[in-house]
Amino acid sequence: MKKLTLLFLLLALLAVAVGGCGPTPKPPEAPTTQPMEVSTAAPTATPIQQPTEVPTAAPTATPTQQSTPKGTPANASQDDTQTRPTVVFEVESDEALALVNGTLIDGTGADPLPNAVVVVQKGRIIAVGAHAEVDVPVDAKIIDVQGATILPGFINAHVHLGFNERNLEAWAQAGVTTVRDLGGPSRFSFRDSVRKDSQYARLVAAGPIVTVPDGYPIVPFGSTNVLTVTSPEDTHQKVSQLLDDGADFIKIALEGGRIFDKNIPMLSPEESAAIVKVAHERGTLVTAHVTVSQDLARALDAGVDDIAHMVTDNLPDDLIERMVEDDVYWVPTIELWKGVGHGFGERAVANLRRFVNAGGKVALGTDYAGYYTQFDLGMPIREIEWMEEAGMTPMQIIVAGTKNAAHVCNLEHELGTLEVGKIADVLVVDGDPLDDIHALTNVRMVLHNGVVIRGGNV
Ligand SMILES: [Zn+2]
Repeated sequence: MKKLTLLFLLLALLAVAVGGCGPTPKPPEAPTTQPMEVSTAAPTATPIQQPTEVPTAAPTATPTQQSTPKGTPANASQDDTQTRPTVVFEVESDEALALVNGTLIDGTGADPLPNAVVVVQKGRIIAVGAHAEVDVPVDAKIIDVQGATILPGFINAHVHLGFNERNLEAWAQAGVTTVRDLGGPSRFSFRDSVRKDSQYARLVAAGPIVTVPDGYPIVPFGSTNVLTVTSPEDTHQKVSQLLDDGADFIKIALEGGRIFDKNIPMLSPEESAAIVKVAHERGTLVTAHVTVSQDLARALDAGVDDIAHMVTDNLPDDLIERMVEDDVYWVPTIELWKGVGHGFGERAVANLRRFVNAGGKVALGTDYAGYYTQFDLGMPIREIEWMEEAGMTPMQIIVAGTKNAAHVCNLEHELGTLEVGKIADVLVVDGDPLDDIHALTNVRMVLHNGVVIRGGNV
């Protein structure tokens, strides 16, 4: 173990030397059916900004330019829409588009609906349901997707290097129409500009990770995309500023360093609670990096909304119960742990199995580019395979990659299910992913913001 830890630290230092998120040693196996493989090229790194150098740009998205959905956004009540973020995009065409003859899996977990129709117009879903029950506008462009399954666009709820057009395009082409970046620069103007172009996956971004001086991920990775705080008061001021600058949510590090055989400082319970309080007052969410159960308990004490990695030690039953009771979502990142080795992947799978059996809610996320090993760019099919290994059914995995992942993005009212009023992010695949989950990589067509960006013969 000691030797492995040393190797781990050595790799960490190497990664720091080359810029943080790692060159990928040539993977032992070819990636699966991704449209663009994670190449061994150095990540086209976005400029690294000092954590405290926050831009002075005004916060983003006002809902005023939004196209008007026909129908009430699903699950959105009058009261809570005010604090919820709205994704702004522009779709020029008024033309309605109807996908017909496919099997619908709408992301809610409901049974599949054969011979379904999904109608989109001006970027939103305006009708969805059984063929006999949906009125297709007479002038709608009809696309027959017989033999295919119609799903919501997928979401990878834990990535890095999201501030990168090439990556965003690869994700979108694979039907991963949204990614949540859990630690990067505070270049929110970049996020806003790529959001206007449907060729790119929608970037939802934390900006810098909130931590303490000499805390994780400064140690051991030397990361500079961090925001350090020194007291609850300092926390309040800096996290408020980060949200003013445009962060979609807050990522905190609760890492005592045990996994690196180190003892590193981390946010105090008071600071953690202060962060959650500010974020929740502002209508945003907090996700916590943890790697061991002891720090998971601190995250739950603070009241965070989701956990950014599965823990790598034996997860105690009482913490599973707390997660379920408090409705805290888990983003397991098995792909990360398999890449790190040390048996972490196997333990993470075992913990995930117990969490799911207890009724816990899981969101799909891999930690793309968060370590030096290969990650799937595009549909994270290996993460999905390990979710299956943990006992998740194909339907549970689909919900994890759509509805639940939208939830941790704080966009469940806009994304994640195919319901009237929601943004038309749609993935059409050949075959039946409930029969074989790998069908998720048989992409026939992708709509993002209602725009056909792949397939469809349009
Ligand atoms: Zn990460």
